[in-house]
Amino acid sequence: MEKLLAYCGLDCAECPARKAHLTNDDALRAETAARWTKEFGFPFTAAMVDCTGCTQAGAKIGHCSDCGMRACGLAKGIANCGACAEYASCAKLGGFLGQVPLAKANLEAFRARKA
Ligand code: SF4
Ligand code: SF4
Repeated sequence: MEKLLAYCGLDCAECPARKAHLTNDDALRAETAARWTKEFGFPFTAAMVDCTGCTQAGAKIGHCSDCGMRACGLAKGIANCGACAEYASCAKLGGFLGQVPLAKANLEAFRARKA
């Protein structure tokens, strides 16, 4: 499946919140909320698992709505953090990518394509 990169480099195309939104799947919302609550130690509700993907026009965003990287990328008018001049020096992004290698690999691949 073609990737749909979030500002942070996560692939929204693979995210259950987007899948649940596209298929209006309440069971997937509930099951994902329970899993994420265990994994991340935050009380996710099923209503939070409902997202178009954070870069989409008129986006309905679930738990990523308060993402600082998204807010920053939107303000800069860039496709994602991989397109940012501060990519290598940004502490906000660096902290996240240090914890999520897959997002880092996605942004590195994006940058390689643009080089
Ligand atoms: S919650 Fe939304 S913005 Fe966040 S990774 Fe999933 S689809 Fe993307
Ligand atoms: S400054 Fe950091 S958070 Fe903002 S767009 Fe650039 S890399 Fe992303």
